[in-house]
Amino acid sequence: MNQRDDLSTALPTRRQLLRAAAAAASLALLPDAFGSPAMAAPRVAFLAPDAAAAAFARPDDTYYANMGLLEIRARMRSSLAGMSLADARVAVRAYDQAAVLAFTDAEIVAIRGVVERMQPLLEERAPLYARTPWSFIKLDDRAEGGMPHTRGPHIVLPRETAEHFAVMHQEMLEAGKLAVTPRGRDLLIHEQTHVLERQDPARFEPLFTDVFGFSRMTPAPANAWLSGHRCINPDGPDVAWAFPLAKIGGSGWVMPDVVLADLPAPRMPQDFQVIGVEVEKTAEGWKLVESDGVPKRRDLDQIRGYDAHFPFADEDFHPHEIAAVTLSHWILRDVPDLDARPLMPAVAAWARTALA
Ligand SMILES: [Zn+2]
Repeated sequence: MNQRDDLSTALPTRRQLLRAAAAAASLALLPDAFGSPAMAAPRVAFLAPDAAAAAFARPDDTYYANMGLLEIRARMRSSLAGMSLADARVAVRAYDQAAVLAFTDAEIVAIRGVVERMQPLLEERAPLYARTPWSFIKLDDRAEGGMPHTRGPHIVLPRETAEHFAVMHQEMLEAGKLAVTPRGRDLLIHEQTHVLERQDPARFEPLFTDVFGFSRMTPAPANAWLSGHRCINPDGPDVAWAFPLAKIGGSGWVMPDVVLADLPAPRMPQDFQVIGVEVEKTAEGWKLVESDGVPKRRDLDQIRGYDAHFPFADEDFHPHEIAAVTLSHWILRDVPDLDARPLMPAVAAWARTALA
């Protein structure tokens, strides 16, 4: 999930421009940009609507099977009066399948161009990304709250984002800056990180635990209130992570989670509530701290020291998101104080091995 829409922001730093120019210059010496045996062309696919719809109905995909009614109302922008939960789960899948669109030629050229121009940097900074195929699905903006996200090995782009890539491409082309612009890279690396997290969870787990400080709860504590209010993040479906407040000067543990306000048809993402649910470790396992079936919880950003613990405070409601935000910045080196941010030496030490 990616709540940013910032293709137009983040002016390139001098350092980035120099690096990109050097990469472009070195490529220009080759008869074929990816002709070197050391640099393979990235594999990039754009799914046709029928293939994209089929990708939402894979038998091993439990995404819709775990959704609650409140969440389905938000996704379908309807109160679904009188509809059973089982019928609503079928309806929301059909709703998403009906939202798939074909990419335009201009969008394909633009997105493929960002991936191909980024390939030398990925080869250098994170070879795992350079050799992982890219696969894109386009959805109407009404689905998934209009947010870029991932499903299986696919990056799902809302129509508006796909169009932004085409507009950016044309602007940069006309300005003579296409070869050196870094625009669009952060979003693609963020989403591809989720694809990699799903493909190889064991690779990323030490980042979440040893570096970020989370503990995996097995099994994660649950109750009816939480499952009725939770909004499943397709990019972080396992809400199973406890954070020890002792790391930030407190005591006890919180489980970050995203829930929806109790409304007839809550809006996505406007009615999201990002919370820290109190959990405790007992001899019988992890338990929710609750009162009359309602878990004790706080807004996550009201927990003193939580945001500041991580390299970046954006989307720190799930380790998958913290990793996607952080690794995008680590690969692109697009913030000047990157190495001085919290946890970054440990992130870099993990990334140099795990993303090789
Ligand atoms: Zn995300």
